[in-house]
Amino acid sequence: MSLKSRYSILSLARNALGFGEGWQEAWRSPEPKPEYKAIIVGGGGHGLATAYYLAKEHGITDVAVLEKGWIGGGNTGRNTTVVRSNYLWDESAFLYEHSLKLWERLTDDLNFNVMFSQRGLLALAHSQHDLHELSRRAHANKLNGIDAELLNLRQLKEFCPILNCAQDVRYPVLGAGLQPRGGVARHDAVAWGYARGADARGVDIIQNCEVTGILRDGAKVVGVETSRGLIKAPKIALVTAGHSSVLAAMAGLRLPIESHPLQAFVSEPIKPILDTVVMSGTVHVYVSQSDKGELVLGAGIDSFNSYAQRGSIPIIEDSVAAAIELFPIFSRLKLMRSWGGIVDICPDASPIISKTPIDGLYLNCGWGTGGFKATPGSGWVLAHTIAQDRPHKLNEPFALSRFTSGQLIDEHGAAAVAH
Ligand SMILES: Cc1cc2nc3c(=O)[nH]c(=O)nc-3n(C[C@H](O)[C@H](O)[C@H](O)COP(=O)(O)OP(=O)(O)OC[C@H]3O[C@@H](n4cnc5c(N)ncnc54)[C@H](O)[C@@H]3O)c2cc1C
Repeated sequence: MSLKSRYSILSLARNALGFGEGWQEAWRSPEPKPEYKAIIVGGGGHGLATAYYLAKEHGITDVAVLEKGWIGGGNTGRNTTVVRSNYLWDESAFLYEHSLKLWERLTDDLNFNVMFSQRGLLALAHSQHDLHELSRRAHANKLNGIDAELLNLRQLKEFCPILNCAQDVRYPVLGAGLQPRGGVARHDAVAWGYARGADARGVDIIQNCEVTGILRDGAKVVGVETSRGLIKAPKIALVTAGHSSVLAAMAGLRLPIESHPLQAFVSEPIKPILDTVVMSGTVHVYVSQSDKGELVLGAGIDSFNSYAQRGSIPIIEDSVAAAIELFPIFSRLKLMRSWGGIVDICPDASPIISKTPIDGLYLNCGWGTGGFKATPGSGWVLAHTIAQDRPHKLNEPFALSRFTSGQLIDEHGAAAVAH
């Protein structure tokens, strides 16, 4: 049954009368087939989006998404949901802006409310250097057709009245860059919406299926070993944020990536008080208010490498101290919980969306602290790359080969902690 008739007004009425007990599962849980045309390893937002666009844009539906845990249980369900496209270099700006445009119609496209809220996003400047950097980036963004504004202190105070604009603090705020179309979205909904859309088109989403080996026949891939047996496919995409190096090593590839914990935390819920996203790369904190009322705070990465999905207390202490200096009125709130995810950091703070020297093996990784915003665009270009066996012009610059050619896309300034 198509998604439209499954969720028609009649179906809603029928299920309301039946107290919601007759709803079908939103996606199936099939047994893995022995062979597929393509396998996506990793059931996060990027992997599910890739499968969705493979089916929708390229008609390739004989696809399995293999997820070792549950879909969205990795960074997709652990991030702080900031979406923006104000990156410095043309290559990144085009990719993230393509993604932002997909975000703007994603709820309609998936027929699933991803709660995308374009409440604007402020990047604070605490020094002349920050002001120059933000001004350069805003000009670069405008040249690329991306919305960007610069706010002085008075404008900033009007835009975000609860922000502490006093000048006698450790790191006084001097101004800010604003992307009005930036904002936040509901992370779980993104995973579920893509899963439902992909499943409706025939993709098999297989949870609790860990890939433990990648099989090659000479220079090409032929399949994967999994905790649920051997599955063959001539095309395999590794979309396993945090564990990309581990998976690539199974195929004999060494990646220029480090895995680090990245933490986030939420306060107790309060009434609406903050209607934008505020971030500071200098004092390493950013904050938005969720629709439930919690303040969602994020930090920089823990400096050590780890695969444990948690981080250390000093990062939380530093970020909370910075948040309280920026917003003294938050000082009496309690933190409810904190958690961590493992992010893949590339030397140039840009992702890898690429073919590899091994035929049929594709990579999507290295998003570091900021890949949630790229979920639709990343899946869209990777689906193109898999279907055509060549990159789309949007992801061509993000090839693995840039680490040998030297054509790096240095986005440390625009990526850093500022998601
Ligand atoms: C605390 C935190 C805050 C963040 N905040 C933001 C933000 O505000 N904005 C932003 O843009 N980005 C943010 N990010 C980054 C963002 O979450 C990620 O870049 C993005 O979610 C990556 O999506 P993904 O689908 O590639 O990865 P994931 O959602 O992590 O999916 C990868 C999946 O691969 C699976 N997997 C791993 N190994 C195997 C295996 N051997 N076999 C099968 N499956 C396997 C994992 O279980 C996982 O589900 C944040 C990240 C964290 C941790």
